[in-house]
Amino acid sequence: MEILKKILVVNCGSSSVKYTLFELASEKKVDWGIVECIGLPEAYYKRQNVNTNEKKDYLKVANHREAIELIIKNLLDEKVGSIVDTNEIAVVGHRVAHGGVKFSKSVLVTEKVKEDLKEYFAIAPLHNPANYAGVLAIEKMLPGIPSVLVFDTAFHQTMPDYAYMYAIPYEYYEKNHIRRYGFHGTSHNYVSRMAAKMLEKPLNELKLITAHLGNGSSIAAIDKGRVIDTSMGFTPLQGVVMGTRCGDIDPAIIPYILKQYKNDSDTFLNTLMNKRSGLLGISGLSSDMRTIVKAIKSGNKRAKLAFEMLCYSVKKYISAYYGVLNGIDGLVFTAGIGENSPFVREKICSNLHALGIELDLKKNNVISNEERLISSSNSKVKIMVIPTNEELMIARESKICLYKCK
Ligand code: ADP
Repeated sequence: MEILKKILVVNCGSSSVKYTLFELASEKKVDWGIVECIGLPEAYYKRQNVNTNEKKDYLKVANHREAIELIIKNLLDEKVGSIVDTNEIAVVGHRVAHGGVKFSKSVLVTEKVKEDLKEYFAIAPLHNPANYAGVLAIEKMLPGIPSVLVFDTAFHQTMPDYAYMYAIPYEYYEKNHIRRYGFHGTSHNYVSRMAAKMLEKPLNELKLITAHLGNGSSIAAIDKGRVIDTSMGFTPLQGVVMGTRCGDIDPAIIPYILKQYKNDSDTFLNTLMNKRSGLLGISGLSSDMRTIVKAIKSGNKRAKLAFEMLCYSVKKYISAYYGVLNGIDGLVFTAGIGENSPFVREKICSNLHALGIELDLKKNNVISNEERLISSSNSKVKIMVIPTNEELMIARESKICLYKCK
């Protein structure tokens, strides 16, 4: 039997490792899973492949290295695994949160790349060290197999300086690299390409706004395939209202809160803005859009306010980017909320006729996992729902890097 080469995609979060194994040529997904709650007593390993049902085990997993060992061992398992030999894996693609200014595209891992990656630990303290640990663990478990880094920030590196600079003294940019980077780049990249396919036009002839609306959300303005602005900034905290993140606020609120509460620990503020704000902070109920929508239907006023604030913030970015792009051909909704909540899409698109944005309410209400057009036949702007697939995009990027270096 012919052995088909594979691509392993690894996504190391602060306390989890997600993986997907694809066939290299066909891009078929063959095995996938997650190790969650690493370092905690409730750690578990959930996995599945094309031939087996989902299996979940509670196991002791102390760190990312142990999680990756577990995953590779399971992939090689005689009964339930998907590979016979590690050499079936042609390349490993790693999702990396922050590539700073050094990484404007995906790269093959070398000693120099690993050193450069460490420079961004301070900017992305929760994610980049975990990504780095994943690279080291893969090197140990799969010696000789090339690894590629695919950065969440890379796709946004085309922004002009007047869009990515903050108007604080210039030395903070020079010394501390404080500027807008943007995140969810892999997702914006993937859905913009898919949008071009759907519209049957080359990407370099299109002006698009892509709205990635999940627990974390960001909007991107894309001109001819190049990002010219995006709502997340130096960190993923900036931009629209999110599940637990506040998004844009007046920065003077921060020193004011510090003074009022006489608490100047950065944990207090980071927790407040990243974990206790957004939908959760306003509703006092949940960060989950499904719960918010249910609560609105039963008359919960604060849930309604949280929902309206989120939709309004997205609408403002869409309108601003429409102006920045001088009109658009397409508006894309993606990620958990963007793909699944007709209620949110309807609210965001309401009263945007002036911009040529008009939903077909019937099409908007269709529940589907497929990419689809939801604009009315009168709408100048094509409105699309496109399920994101960051893993597949990372697999593709890794394949391209691998072929380039051969
Ligand atoms: P993450 O940023 O963690 O990757 P996701 O893209 O998975 O997040 O999105 C999670 C969000 O999607 C949650 O707010 C969840 O409530 C929302 N969501 C998922 N399914 C639905 C649905 N059917 N209706 C409304 N919201 C949904």
